[in-house]
Amino acid sequence: MPQLRQTWDNQQFFSGSDDPAIATTIEQLQADIAELETSCAIFGGLIETADNLPAADIPDLISKVKHVHGQEVSILERLGNVRTFISSILSVDSQDAQANTWMPKLQQVGAALSQAGTPLDVFLVRASDGFITQLLAEPELEERSFSISHARRLKDQLLSVSEEKLITGLGVTGLQGWGNLYDDLAGSLKCEVEGETVGLAKAANLVSSANRDTRQAAWTAIRSAWSTREDSVASILNAINGWRLEETAQRSHIRELHYLDKSCHQSRIERETLNALMDTTYEHRAIGQRALKAMGQALEIKQMAPWDLFAPAPSAGGEENIPFDDAIQLIAKAFSRLTPAMGEFAVMMAEKGWIDGAPTPNRTTGAYCTSFRSPREPRIFLTYEGTMNNVMTLAHELGHAWHNWVMRDLPMMKTWYSMTLAETASIFAETLVRDALLQEAKDPAQQLEIAWQNADSAAVFLLNIPARFEFEKRLVEARKDGYVIADKLKPMMAGSWQHWYEDSLSEYDDLFWASKLHFSIASLGFYNYPYLFGYLFSLGIYAQQEKYGAAFNDLYTNLLRDTGSMTAEAVVMQHLKQDIRQPQFWQESLLIVDDSVKQFEQLVAQQKAVAIA
Ligand SMILES: [Zn+2]
Repeated sequence: MPQLRQTWDNQQFFSGSDDPAIATTIEQLQADIAELETSCAIFGGLIETADNLPAADIPDLISKVKHVHGQEVSILERLGNVRTFISSILSVDSQDAQANTWMPKLQQVGAALSQAGTPLDVFLVRASDGFITQLLAEPELEERSFSISHARRLKDQLLSVSEEKLITGLGVTGLQGWGNLYDDLAGSLKCEVEGETVGLAKAANLVSSANRDTRQAAWTAIRSAWSTREDSVASILNAINGWRLEETAQRSHIRELHYLDKSCHQSRIERETLNALMDTTYEHRAIGQRALKAMGQALEIKQMAPWDLFAPAPSAGGEENIPFDDAIQLIAKAFSRLTPAMGEFAVMMAEKGWIDGAPTPNRTTGAYCTSFRSPREPRIFLTYEGTMNNVMTLAHELGHAWHNWVMRDLPMMKTWYSMTLAETASIFAETLVRDALLQEAKDPAQQLEIAWQNADSAAVFLLNIPARFEFEKRLVEARKDGYVIADKLKPMMAGSWQHWYEDSLSEYDDLFWASKLHFSIASLGFYNYPYLFGYLFSLGIYAQQEKYGAAFNDLYTNLLRDTGSMTAEAVVMQHLKQDIRQPQFWQESLLIVDDSVKQFEQLVAQQKAVAIA
């Protein structure tokens, strides 16, 4: 059997960040983008008459769009590859000097590409329905059908071609620069944990130590590291949110836009769906609070503190150490229960060197799944140190990778799914692993260890994620009135935690706005509720396994394959015949969470009874 690898191998693309082929590729891309710009420019002159084109011009215009499409696909594939390559280097070593110089260059190239295509994009939004129907009847353009129809929903907030280009162009050094600054800080900050100097990624893993003192020390160290930079992060948050608000104001020329409109459009959900999701979850916040309480009982802690939120199950008996290879095998076995192909896929990811988990000194925090575009190959990044949390993160990212993998034969533009649906496959994969482990557990102590993960998820998704959403809403509202200083951000975060956690925590993490990178992602706001959506949504789908039996895997695969070409509402209606704008859909998923928390509470009570006897 081939060896499993814990360091990724991307040498087939470039030999390293100093490979001269990177410069050549980027120069070629720039030349091709200049050509694309010429091909698209003609559409700029047609915007005013786009909804009433002379019939005689239509065949020629369609063939021009086809030409542009071919150019774009080729550019996107090559740009995607070099971008994935460079960011993969920076994840492993945030201080790589070459990669750090390429990153802003690539952002510029990305912006140039989007600027070049702007005249056509605006034209396609303004064109008549009749023209669009004729255009999409062309087989090679069919892959654009969803992206075009979805973009056309923004008709009333579109600006002129030159204004659209200006926003994109200024965003490179303006908006994106702030996001880059955050990544820089996160990669270079050092913390002192119990006498040892460690990077943030390592410290973040120590917060899930079995030893409460270590957890508290790591949590405190992360906080004090970030507190030395709190004014910088406050600047980042103010700049990013100020930018977004100004853009929203500029786009509100026909109707008043809400700051959540853009996020919902990007997430491909309706506001009604978001409201149903958040309101229903708030009504059921006690489920997450109960989970925390039971976790505290199991840990023999009177009241959970923020540093206990990542604590491992108490029965683990000290520090766990699950070797990487064992984690892959364990995950593969669980995946195989759905379909052997998914299990084989997990092993293949490690055999091919498509996963990077080995700790390195200047590693960035977090975990993610990305992919190369040509050939279509997923990659996973995480910091694997053998804890059960690490195993679940690996399972989560492998779920994303599987999602990419089942779509690998689709045309590229049909594989771009939204954030809400992105978290479906990952959380589904986590659930598969947890359920398999729970069934295999030999005694109540082992069961409790696995059920712990269910309780932990309930607490994270039903409380922590919504608290982030609440904070971001409050931040945007406050930013409307002016600059929000760090001393205002702290009570704002504490209040958001209070709103959801209530008395289930002994204190709130009021620097979470600095330590959590999600608030500083320049390219998208509200990167929080999609996790809650994915969690409840994937549990809802998971529960359909019994109902559909042997037919389930096909249903699930087809649903995943449609995630790139439908709104979330349409995907669910099409495959599950349910309406996610209604609270009922979410209530059913919350009942599943409630059951798993009840099971956990029983296991904890049982353990206590044994201890007393
Ligand atoms: Zn994910």
